[in-house]
Amino acid sequence: TEFPASGARGLGAVDLRVRVRVPAKVNLALRVAARGDDGYHQLATVFQAVALFDELTAERRRDDAITVTTRGLHAHRVDDDPTNLAVRAAVALRHHFGTADLGVHLSIDKSIPVAGGMAGGSADAAASLLACSVLWDLDTTPDDLVQLAADIGSDVPFELVGGTALGRGRGGDVMPALARGNYHWVLALSDRGLSTPSVYACFDEQVDAGKVVPLRPDDPDACTALLDALASGDAARVAPLLGNDLQEAACQLRPELREVLAAGTAAGALAGIVSGSGPTCAFLCASQPDAYLVQTVLRSLEQVDETLCVTSPAPGAQLVVS
Ligand code: ATP
Repeated sequence: TEFPASGARGLGAVDLRVRVRVPAKVNLALRVAARGDDGYHQLATVFQAVALFDELTAERRRDDAITVTTRGLHAHRVDDDPTNLAVRAAVALRHHFGTADLGVHLSIDKSIPVAGGMAGGSADAAASLLACSVLWDLDTTPDDLVQLAADIGSDVPFELVGGTALGRGRGGDVMPALARGNYHWVLALSDRGLSTPSVYACFDEQVDAGKVVPLRPDDPDACTALLDALASGDAARVAPLLGNDLQEAACQLRPELREVLAAGTAAGALAGIVSGSGPTCAFLCASQPDAYLVQTVLRSLEQVDETLCVTSPAPGAQLVVS
């Protein structure tokens, strides 16, 4: 995979300020195995990046500090400190290259919901890896960035790749997949996030109680039918194959999500799913006019705080030339 990073290396002129745009994701399929002895879950997932973007700007600092500020609609729910995933990514990159004297200030313009199951933090980590590798003029390869990304979080490699991809392992083994056409989505957002660990803990209880059948980790066909449908470009074929093994857990923790899902499909969406660990619900629609109708209905629900119409697939982290 060719990332913009390799093309940008050597652009000496952009060494003071680098801007990167990075998308949110929806898991069109998320199959989850029972928790392993190491405490982690093996996954089989089909990611698709949607056209809802955070923008990260990296600026050289004279000292060796790595700092961050966040602005935008969702900024107040993100900590501007070393726990910010964008900072952790920059620290990991600097450590990997042994360049402890390099500093950076990161500004994040946040549009992706926080703790919404749309990989917002992972997106910023991916943007930070790309922006800092260009800003610091590091000799990175796409493989270096993907490797570092996987160490930061399982959704971070996909955020570099974007488009449509199959994720295996903990989600970090990403293989680009063929998808034809564009897809129209309505997103129903909630102001109250859901913590990913609590959703997985609930999933574990459901597996132990026999309420959910987990993925067989070595199942080679976990997402094959969906990938075939995506290659056809037919949203009506894709819709019945959307699925999320964490959906029951997210709905158990937030029962109102069941009402939101039912309302979106009653309003004409082809299908609705909880995105990742929730609480964002994503509705696939046959066309943009259909999506606007579904949005109008969802917007009126008291359980929904914000709605967005977006298309997919979108590119992964990309340099913005201004
Ligand atoms: P995923 O879909 O990958 O499970 P998510 O979209 O549900 O993730 P995030 O928005 O990535 O959740 O946020 C998860 C946690 O990470 C939040 O509690 C937040 O405080 C923390 N976090 C750290 N850095 C960031 C960042 N740059 N943007 C958003 N959240 C961040």
